[in-house]
Amino acid sequence: MSAADIIGLSAIEAAREIAAGKLSAGEMFDAYRARAVSDELNCFTWVAPERPGDIAVGAAGKDAPLAGVPLAVKDLFCTVGVPSQSGSRILEGYEPPYTATAVRRLLQAGASLLGKTNQDEFAMGSSNENSAFGPVLNPWDRTRVPGGSSGGSAAAVAAGLAPWALGTDTGGSIRQPAALCGIVGLKPTYGSVSRYGMIAFASSLDQAGPLTRDVTDAALLLRHMVGADPCDATSLEFPQEIELPRAEHLDGVRLGVPAELTGGSTGVGVDAGFDGEGIEAGVLDAFRSSLNRAAALGAEIVESVSLPHAPHALSAYYVLAPAEASSNLARFDGVRYGLRTQGAEDLLEMYERTRHDGFGAEVKRRIMLGTYALSAGYYDAYYGRAQRVRTRIAEDFARAFDEVDFIVTPTTPTIAFALGEKTSDPLAMYLNDYCTVPMSLAGIPAISIPCGLSDGLPVGLQIAGPVFSENRLLDAAYALEQALGFDGSKARV
Ligand code: GLN
Repeated sequence: MSAADIIGLSAIEAAREIAAGKLSAGEMFDAYRARAVSDELNCFTWVAPERPGDIAVGAAGKDAPLAGVPLAVKDLFCTVGVPSQSGSRILEGYEPPYTATAVRRLLQAGASLLGKTNQDEFAMGSSNENSAFGPVLNPWDRTRVPGGSSGGSAAAVAAGLAPWALGTDTGGSIRQPAALCGIVGLKPTYGSVSRYGMIAFASSLDQAGPLTRDVTDAALLLRHMVGADPCDATSLEFPQEIELPRAEHLDGVRLGVPAELTGGSTGVGVDAGFDGEGIEAGVLDAFRSSLNRAAALGAEIVESVSLPHAPHALSAYYVLAPAEASSNLARFDGVRYGLRTQGAEDLLEMYERTRHDGFGAEVKRRIMLGTYALSAGYYDAYYGRAQRVRTRIAEDFARAFDEVDFIVTPTTPTIAFALGEKTSDPLAMYLNDYCTVPMSLAGIPAISIPCGLSDGLPVGLQIAGPVFSENRLLDAAYALEQALGFDGSKARV
């Protein structure tokens, strides 16, 4: 098989070819490795120096359902003996002595580690411009951002530098870059994938999930990631096996379109600086025409559903996530891991200098915000209040799911924006996650699938469901994906 033919296969197609003995896993690994090594988009922070010796060969069988298919993994997943820096200078040179459970499970299922991918530092960002390794370029237009924080994973999959990739999503970091790069990204139900070995950002929100070319690949990758883990007390056994999606229709499926997250008239994000319109016209057009497609497939579009507290999600998130981050990042003090700035007179000065040199501006901003929000005098005014808003948001979704099966929104308010356009305006940057943060706070699963183009760049459609509804969610996304027929090959350069 030629390299071009190999790159043309989706991950599940490749796994099937390998299992049937028509393609060798080693040959596939080499084809992708060659592309990853010559990556011009800055997607990778590390590429495997050679094909793994134990790569699955020939008929893969049930012990290796992923058949050696190469996998790109976001930098923040600890991987034994491989640099794992979470996009930060403060973890320079850190090679963990253990591997994250999600990665370990995928390797045990037969995947092979192709490389580690670039990301915003400690997963804080929406454009991948906060990385110590420099920005990632969007393969659809190299003057634009790929989204973040899993920007390297998204761009690598979109550009055909990896068949599929792992990312993490705290407030949108799988879904938003998937949308901006024209691929599929799934944030699973909180707790369904172990967080053990993921360098933490905000522990009550962080979830690992797949970034893939299509919905079927997302289901296959998720199937081998989920499950309770004794090393993560917040992990849960997934109640069913994750199935490969098959639905062709949406008969009887009720899709709720909440005005608050779809540019409706209910004052979208007024408190967060939105002007009431918020969502770009081109994005709304693609969103509306995919709703028409859904209706043609049999779905019932329910416009009356409401998420009244969703406009406050971003404000609550930017108290809660920095609060948790300020606590999680306290461990990086120059003593245990990575960077230690030399020349300090005493221990305190060593801490200060290391953290000064090792953390980037956005991370420092979050640490300050979070420390302030958690300080004794303000704890209830900020953190306690934000937690109460979080509860209200979860209640809104629960009520909505009495009326509809899924909530649908655009994944992002805009298409990919220019590199540098929002770097000096943190609030403008935070608004990228306006439509994705509510689901994160509620802990529910949500998928982004490409639903069309605006100005020649991809638009994402977000579908969210109740906890553990992944199988139904994947089915609905699959039916729509087939009907929409989005062609992502334009980015596979
Ligand atoms: N962009 C959001 C933030 O900067 C979300 C990041 C994420 O999901 N990791 O916090």
